[in-house]
Amino acid sequence: MAKILIVGGAGYIGSHVCRALAARGDLPIVFDNLSSGHEHAVKWGPLVRGDIRSFAELERAFSEHRPDAVMHFAANIEVGEGQIYPRAFWDNNVGGVITLLNAMERADIKPLVFSSTCAVYGEPEIVPITEKEKCEPVSVYGRTKRAVEIMLSDIAARDGVRFAALRYFNAAGASPDGDIGEEHDPETHLIPNALKAAAGLGGGMKLFGADYATRDGTCVRDYIHVLDLATAHLAALDRVMAGPGGFFCNIGTGNGASVLEVLSAVERVTGRPVPFEKHARREGDAPELLADISYARSWLGFSPQFSDIETIIDDAWRFHKKAWGIS
Ligand code: UDP
Repeated sequence: MAKILIVGGAGYIGSHVCRALAARGDLPIVFDNLSSGHEHAVKWGPLVRGDIRSFAELERAFSEHRPDAVMHFAANIEVGEGQIYPRAFWDNNVGGVITLLNAMERADIKPLVFSSTCAVYGEPEIVPITEKEKCEPVSVYGRTKRAVEIMLSDIAARDGVRFAALRYFNAAGASPDGDIGEEHDPETHLIPNALKAAAGLGGGMKLFGADYATRDGTCVRDYIHVLDLATAHLAALDRVMAGPGGFFCNIGTGNGASVLEVLSAVERVTGRPVPFEKHARREGDAPELLADISYARSWLGFSPQFSDIETIIDDAWRFHKKAWGIS
């Protein structure tokens, strides 16, 4: 059994990774300040309340629990918010990781799995996107994640830190039993907002941009089920625990759905209409983001199992119905 410190383990993706680790016999120790995570999502190991920017709190967690590796999920993620509060994003997303790396160094822990994002690519020239695509992020959020990637490369080359930087495409879905899922406040993501509109909560939803040069004019994204994402994390963890070096790896499916295709799938799955209004484009939205996952397939043995759009929406709908008290 390995003990893994899950920084941000009370959040959406972190909690699914905890569950997957526990299912294979590892012990996830959640370190989270609960600023956006949820205590009720910590079920598979102890919770240490602490902030990634506090060396003392991290040091205490390391000396009390003596983990073998660290997985990092604790970050500000709302792209629009980052444009308004860049200092907070740099402080938490980059400053927090520097503090984490210093605490890992003090505790002599080398392996780190880091949550990166397809936002590091900005507006890619070639889609599907391989890891060789240029990284020119167009948002504060993307730049903070890219900055950490660069920092990890530099430090790994010198200090023996071993890292995986997983570049997620669009994480979506929930655990099939409806137990844990996506709970952001405010919610900005497409699938939960479409489900909310289908449920008749808060009126219709806004569709941002119907004039893109895509098959139906709306943005195309690569939605990856959070269960598949969790599986990819376990494989990446095994890689960083097994040997030296670091790597960057796309985690998606290679298949895309447009916003309108997602809304149709929501109508099919829920059996309810999704009222929406067309609005202007949202700043910073690229027309099409699709992963080339050849590297994830060969290096991590990754093969998405649950990521067709209807399964994703079906699981998300079950979770949200439970959370919203809908039968
Ligand atoms: N989107 C939308 N209405 C919403 C939320 C999202 O039209 O209420 C669109 C958004 O403009 C983008 C796609 O849905 O084209 C996916 O957005 P999301 O925020 O879910 O993920 P992102 O790709 O920005 O990480």
